Amino acid sequence: LALLDARPRRLTRVQERRLADFSVAAESLGRLARAGEGLAQALAAQGRALAHSRKIFDRAATAARIGVWECALPDETLTWTDQVYAMFDLPRDAPLDRDRIVACYAPDSRAALAEARGRAIAERGGFTLDAEIVTGQGRRRWIRINAVVECEGADPVRIFGMKQDITEEKLLADRTRYLAEFDAMTGLANRATFQARLAALDEAPGRSPFGALLLIDLDGFKPVNDTLGHPAGDACLVEVAGRLRGSCRDGDLVARIGGDEFAVLLATTAPGIAEEVAARLVAALGQPVAWAGRTFSIGASIGIARADGRSSAELYAAADAALYAAKAEGRARFRVAAGPAALSARTP
Ligand code: GH3
Ligand code: MG
Repeated sequence: LALLDARPRRLTRVQERRLADFSVAAESLGRLARAGEGLAQALAAQGRALAHSRKIFDRAATAARIGVWECALPDETLTWTDQVYAMFDLPRDAPLDRDRIVACYAPDSRAALAEARGRAIAERGGFTLDAEIVTGQGRRRWIRINAVVECEGADPVRIFGMKQDITEEKLLADRTRYLAEFDAMTGLANRATFQARLAALDEAPGRSPFGALLLIDLDGFKPVNDTLGHPAGDACLVEVAGRLRGSCRDGDLVARIGGDEFAVLLATTAPGIAEEVAARLVAALGQPVAWAGRTFSIGASIGIARADGRSSAELYAAADAALYAAKAEGRARFRVAAGPAALSARTP
């Protein structure tokens, strides 16, 4: 600190003390100013780091299709990040009225959301839910909602979490499940689904979930392939699948279990129905098939076995033997396997 005076003068003791006090105060002020400058620089650095983290978070959230949401309780004021607005196809400045947003959920998902949210708030817990929405532009999307309830003391004050667009994942999972359970060409249940349903017979002996097994093998199918080619054969199989489905009821399982082999697990245990259905199927599959401006004839042979008392292996073997008998007796007909009692009576 330097003090200059144009006219030299002598200071009194009081003035000297004041000057000393002033210099102490000035030094403290200087130190404070330097500290403040350091603080401002640290704050600016922190601000830059925060902006950088935010940018990275935003980019990652956008790439992963994840948004953050919050709902204040009990007034239900919603706050969303940009990604959630994008998920719902709503402009960034759209008013967030919770009733309007809840109306975007498909009915089943809306009910599941109300149930999970109510329970989470009551138990001060959280939930994860996959829900279907119809966006502001009418698009159907699947979103995964994660939620946590925050309390102040014992009172829930906020529910918040993440929403992730899982539409592609959901479609892929549905497709994978479909391919695992259904025959890609005909859309009927595949062999694995048929076998799983058949095996249910062994899990609850005496309480069969179906009444009878019909094994169906097409007659004269190979010549269709051989004379008209595989595309004609494929079209024929698709046509057969449609006729089978049309001749059975919703509760029956209709499956394609091999090349030109099909199976029906009839839900009913009522006597005589399996024969009625088999006669209908023989007639339906005996009708000519039209393909590419031509028509050709095939037919079907059917083996029937009733479930009562049989294991899945015994049932399949009995129906297969009956099918073989129908083929051997001239095709285009059905045969019924003798009952298990009759079989065991014949067994020495
Ligand atoms: P049968 O009356 O004794 O049952 O004889 P068939 O002519 O019906 O012939 P068979 O049942 O012995 O053979 C079925 C044929 O089905 C053999 C195979 O080439 C054909 N096939 C199997 N899978 C497919 C398929 O996915 N598409 C087509 N087009 N043909 C298939
Ligand atoms: Mg055949």
